[in-house]
This record gives sequence, structure tokens and C-alpha cells, in this order.
Amino acid sequence: MPIREDRLRDLFLDLVRIDSLSRREGAIAQRLAAELLKLGASVEFDEAGTAVGGEVGNLIAHLHGTTSAEPLLLCAHMDTVEPGAGVKPVIDGDVIRSDGTTVLGGDDKSGVAIVLECLRACQEDGLPHPPVEVVFTICEELGLLGARHLDLGRVRARRGLVFDSDAAGFVFTRAPGSTLVEVVVRGRAAHAGMAPERGVSAIRVAADAIAGMRLGRIDEETTANWGTIAGGRAINIIPDEVRLRGEARSHDLAKLQAQLDHIRQCFDDAVARHPGASIEMRLEEMYQPMSVGDDAPIMQLLLAAAAQAGRTVASAGMGGGCDANILNQRGLQVVNLGTGMRDIHTTNEWLKVSDMVAAAEVTLALVTLAADRT
Ligand SMILES: [Zn+2]
Repeated sequence: MPIREDRLRDLFLDLVRIDSLSRREGAIAQRLAAELLKLGASVEFDEAGTAVGGEVGNLIAHLHGTTSAEPLLLCAHMDTVEPGAGVKPVIDGDVIRSDGTTVLGGDDKSGVAIVLECLRACQEDGLPHPPVEVVFTICEELGLLGARHLDLGRVRARRGLVFDSDAAGFVFTRAPGSTLVEVVVRGRAAHAGMAPERGVSAIRVAADAIAGMRLGRIDEETTANWGTIAGGRAINIIPDEVRLRGEARSHDLAKLQAQLDHIRQCFDDAVARHPGASIEMRLEEMYQPMSVGDDAPIMQLLLAAAAQAGRTVASAGMGGGCDANILNQRGLQVVNLGTGMRDIHTTNEWLKVSDMVAAAEVTLALVTLAADRT
């Protein structure tokens, strides 16, 4: 088999031992650049690092094709979440886990390792491949910042794969769009013991609004959540200000808008019931929904590749957002192939090497099939 399990595993173990918290991707970027240069790729960095206050920008590598077929994008992110410094991977047969004090960083070093192993296998076995563009992004975990600031002028490919989801054997083609919601509720301060009737409690107004609000799972495609709430000054002061931060997500933009309208209505109604109160609401689109059909060229290629590799890959929807949302929004056609990472963003994170191998085999088949697609 061209994909070499031992080499993939060893590379993965090397990569997770290199600290790469968001905005501190300098060391891992250096290592990945060296790997790509060894493969004969040209490597550059864009200005995204400056834009987000990080050590380094997005890594963009170009590998000449053996044919002049349409270029193919392979994308994963370099950063990992906290606690993610000093990862000590523990190997237990096919399973690699963290030692329980940090995340493993399989999110997303499994994706990075799969991309590199595919390119190595391609070169070693002299397999045909189209021009390949590798993008390793920064700061995905901070709200897809690297992909947002990716200099697309440096990327020719308009279709490809992102490797950043858990379920092995699945490709995520649908993901919700997400909007950040910030609300400031203002009331009026007064002494809580001597003159409570002169005050308007911002906490009460907020509670009143939230009590009647649809939250959690709204329907199959839509969710909403308040993540943080902060306000008040002291126990003897009627609170004059409360700040809430939350989000709404939906695969359907009309449903997302309906939920945002509902949230605003709940606050407006609450304000009307509490004379003297007011609200300020700010919305920020985090990313748009993505939806790539099974009949899209990239999916046709992927399904053919899975068949050729003797693997099954099923398309699915996911509840989170990733770089693929931004790339699709920016005009590319990409889908998100599962790498086998499990229990991500926890100190119990683990994965199976055999799942990474399966994803790498499908990817390698896709790369070779793409060599004669124009
Ligand atoms: Zn990730």
C-alpha cells in the first residue's frame, strides 16, 4: 500500500509534540514548511498572521502536477485548543491518546499528517497527480480567523478537501451558518435597601426576556444559546447594566433570521414591561451555512475515490463550523473529510491510527483520480 501507516503515525506523533496554540503556530509552521520543501513544493506565508496578531500567517504550498489538470486544494489547520502545550501522546496499539493533562491535538494534526503522508506516497510511488495546493491555516479555533484572512490571490485551486472533523468514513458537506449575538440591557441604578422603587433592574429585564425565549435546539436545523452573562455592581445596588453574549445557528438562513428576530422581540417585549429599561443589540455574522450536493464535482470525485480505495464515505451534516464554511462562502467548493479524531477539545482526546490511514487512502485515490480531471 502506498500509504505507510508507520510513517503516518510517526509524523502525527512528531506534530502533536510541537506546541501550536492559536496565534503561536510559528514552530509547527516551520516544521511543515520543511516537510513540504522536501517534497519539492514551493512554500509561502500570507499576511494573516499580522492581521490577527499571531506569530505566522497561513502556510500556502504549491506542488507542480504531473498533469495540467485543475488544481486541487488540501486544507487543515495548524492551531490547537487549550490545554494544548506540552502534549505527551500515549500509544496503546492502534489508539493514540493524550496523557490526560492536555488535549491530544488530533484536531487538527490528524488532518495535517494525512495531507503530508498523501503527498509523500504520491511522490515515492510516482503516482499521477494534478497541481496540488496545500493550505495550513492559523487560528481556526479562534473563529476561523486564518481562513477569513487567507490571501486567496495566492491560491489557484477552487475545489478540494478540508480535513477537520471527527467521524471517520464521513464527509461533512453541510454545516450551519452562525451569528454572534451581543445584548446590553440597561436599567437604572438605585440603592437596593433605601430606594429600590427608583431603580430598574437590568438583571430582571434580561431574565424576563430570556424566560420566554426559544433556546437550545429550535428545530432540526437551528440552535440558539446564551454563552455568557455579566452585570451588576454590588449586592446593595439595583443593577443598571447586564451584558449577554450568545449565538444562533442554522443550516437555513431564513430560519436563522427568524430566530434572531425572535430574540430581539423577546427583549423588546421585556423592555416594554419595564419602563426605564433599554437594550442595545449587536449581531455579527460568524460564517454562512455551507451545503455541497452529492452531485457536485468534488463529491463525485470523492465518492469515486472511496470506491477505488475500497472504503465507504457517506455525506453528512454537522452542527459546527470550520474553515470549509469560510472557503465555500468565499467561492471555493470544499467538503470536510473526517480524520478519526475523537473527543476533541477535551483532555480525553484520542484517535485510531487505522482511521487516519483510511482517510489518507481515500485522499490519495482522490488525488490520483484528479490527475486527469480538467
Ligand atoms: Zn479543528
